[in-house]
Amino acid sequence: MSKRMAKGIARDTLKFILETSRSSMPMEFAGLLQAENEIITEVLILPGTQTSRINAMVRLYMMPNMSIVGSVHSHPSSNIQPSQQDLQFFSRTGDYHIIVGPPFDEKSWACYDVLGKQRDLLILDVDFKDDASNDLEYSEDYFPEGEADL
Ligand code: ZN
Repeated sequence: MSKRMAKGIARDTLKFILETSRSSMPMEFAGLLQAENEIITEVLILPGTQTSRINAMVRLYMMPNMSIVGSVHSHPSSNIQPSQQDLQFFSRTGDYHIIVGPPFDEKSWACYDVLGKQRDLLILDVDFKDDASNDLEYSEDYFPEGEADL
């Protein structure tokens, strides 16, 4: 399986995750993260329990052309550290795993790698109105080889 990368998450997608997690309370919300051009823009919502989450994940994996980079789920408590069960789930679904918790604002979430180590994930402003996949509105400075001023 090829390594799926993500450099960030679309702000609207993060908002969706936080709002859905809040409205799912006291149930846990879970989904898989899908990326386009290395930006997480889609959430595939999975049933709430740990067991059905994994079953649903396996079915989704069999669908073609799905660029799943990781997972997202909510914790009803404000402890957003991954549990032992979470780490098992992480190992099956990619390298970017978001956990959100109350109060479900833009600061009450964290992203972890497959081993449960916290990692940075940029919040990017993406224009969803334009369907052209190479037209995403974000900017980043690329330095051609040899020209970076280090
Ligand atoms: Zn968890």
